[in-house]
Amino acid sequence: MPENPATAPVDTGRPGRRYLIRGGAVMSMDPEVGDFEIADVLVDGDKIAAIAPAIEAPGVDVVDARGRIVMPGFIDTHHHLFETALRSFLANGLLVDDGSGTPSADPTYVGHVLQRFAPVYRPEDVYITTLFGGLAQLDAGVTTVLDVSQIHHSPEHTDAAIEALADAGRRAAFGYFEGDGRAEARYPQDAYRVRKQWFSSDDQLVTMVMGGEFYLGEELYSNAWGIARELDLQIAAHAVGAFGMRPLLDDLAHGRGGTGKDIGFGPDVLLIHMTGMSDFAWERVRDAGVHVSVSTPIEMTMRHGTPPLLKLQQLGLEPSLSSDVETTMAPDPFTLMRSTMTMQRMLVNESVLAQGGFTPPGHYPAPAPGTPQLFTVRDVLRFATINGAEHLRLDHKTGSLTPGKEADIVLLDATALNVTPLNSVPGAVVSLMDRSNVETVIVAGKIRKWQGSLLEADLVRLRGELERSRDHLFRAADVQQNLFAYS
Ligand SMILES: [Zn+2]
Repeated sequence: MPENPATAPVDTGRPGRRYLIRGGAVMSMDPEVGDFEIADVLVDGDKIAAIAPAIEAPGVDVVDARGRIVMPGFIDTHHHLFETALRSFLANGLLVDDGSGTPSADPTYVGHVLQRFAPVYRPEDVYITTLFGGLAQLDAGVTTVLDVSQIHHSPEHTDAAIEALADAGRRAAFGYFEGDGRAEARYPQDAYRVRKQWFSSDDQLVTMVMGGEFYLGEELYSNAWGIARELDLQIAAHAVGAFGMRPLLDDLAHGRGGTGKDIGFGPDVLLIHMTGMSDFAWERVRDAGVHVSVSTPIEMTMRHGTPPLLKLQQLGLEPSLSSDVETTMAPDPFTLMRSTMTMQRMLVNESVLAQGGFTPPGHYPAPAPGTPQLFTVRDVLRFATINGAEHLRLDHKTGSLTPGKEADIVLLDATALNVTPLNSVPGAVVSLMDRSNVETVIVAGKIRKWQGSLLEADLVRLRGELERSRDHLFRAADVQQNLFAYS
C-alpha cells in the first residue's frame, strides 16, 4: 500500500465523495460497533458509510491509517472562545480577588477578563478570537464545541461570533449568552432574530444554544429560559458555588426560582461546573435529566470548588468535559481527560488508604463496600466524546464512529516517539498522547487537518489579526502589556 500523499484527497465531505480510511486501530466509542485492532472506515459524503475489518471499495481514495488510532473527534461542552486573545494572561488567577494580596488575587477573572477586557471588545475582536481559538482546537482534535459566547454587546457582536464559528469549519453549538448590558445590547430578545436568520435549520454544522445565566437575576434569566423553550433551544448556564449561586439553584430545585410558568430543570438544561451545590439540588438535577459539564483543571486552579466527579458518580450520572478559559489552561482534550482521571483517582485512593489508617497491617486495604470505583481511561474517553454529543443534543450526528452518523474523525499517530510501541489503544490516547499526535482531523467527512497541518487556514495572516486585536484590547482596557508581569 502506498504512503499517504503530501496533499489531502480533494473535495472531501461533498455529496457522493467517498474515501476509505484503511488499516487503523478503530475505537468507535459505540458499544454496538465495538473496537477493531485493524479496520477500515468508509466515508461517503459527510457520513460514515461502513466500519469493518476489510472493506472492498474499488476506485476510492485511500487514507493509509496503519499505525494510527482512528476514533471520534473530541467534544468540548464549554469554551469561551472570545478569550483567545488573552491566552495565559491569567495563569495564576483566581475567579475573584480574595484579599490575600498574592499573585493569584491580582489580576483575576472577574476583575480583569470580565470587567476590563470584555467591555472593550469590538465585533472584529469577537470574530478573530472566536475563529482562531476554534481553528486551534480543531488542530487538537476537538471537532465539536459549545462556545459559551458572553460577548453580545450588540447584534453586530453576535453576528461576528456566529460567522467565526461557521468559518472555522467545525461543528459548534453557538451559545447565545449576554454581553455587558449596554444600551444597544439586544440579549435575550435578539434570540428570535438570530434563530431565524442563522439557525432556521438545525441540520447544519453550527447550531444554537441559549445562555440563561442565574447571575443575571431572576427576571432576566427567566426571560431567557422562556425564550429558549419557545424557540426549542437547549439552555446552558454556569452553576458555581464560589459565585454565590447555591441558594439560586436551591430555589430552582424547590420550584421557587424564576418568574413565569416554564422555568425549571429539564433534560434541555446543561449546567456548567456544579461546584458547591446542595444534595437536594443534585437530586433534582438527576431526577430532571439535567446534563453537567465539568471543567476539571479550571475548577481546581481558579477556586470554583472541587469538581463534582464523585457526586456525579454517586448519583449514577456522567459528565461531559470542558476547557472553559484559555486565559488559564490549555484547552486540549488530553489535558481534560488526564486531569479528570487523576483528580478522581486521587480522591478515591486517599479515601481507601484512610480506611486502613495508614499504618501496617492496614496500609493498603481492600476498598470498603460502597467505595466509588476508580475512573478508567474508557470512562474519561466517553466523557470527552459521546457524552458531549448527548449533552449538546448532537448524538444523532456525532460522538462515536457509527455508520449513518456524520464523519467527525481523528487519526492519532501511535507510531510517534512518545507513544510507540502501542500496547493499549484507549490507554495510549489518555495516558500518553497530546496534541502533537493529532495527525488528521475530519469534520462531517471533510478533511480539515492532513498529515499534521491544518488546511484552508492562513494562519500567518490570522495570527497577525489576533495580535492586533490583542493589542487593541490591552490598550483600550488600559492593561499594561508585559510578558513577565502577570506571573
Ligand atoms: Zn465558563
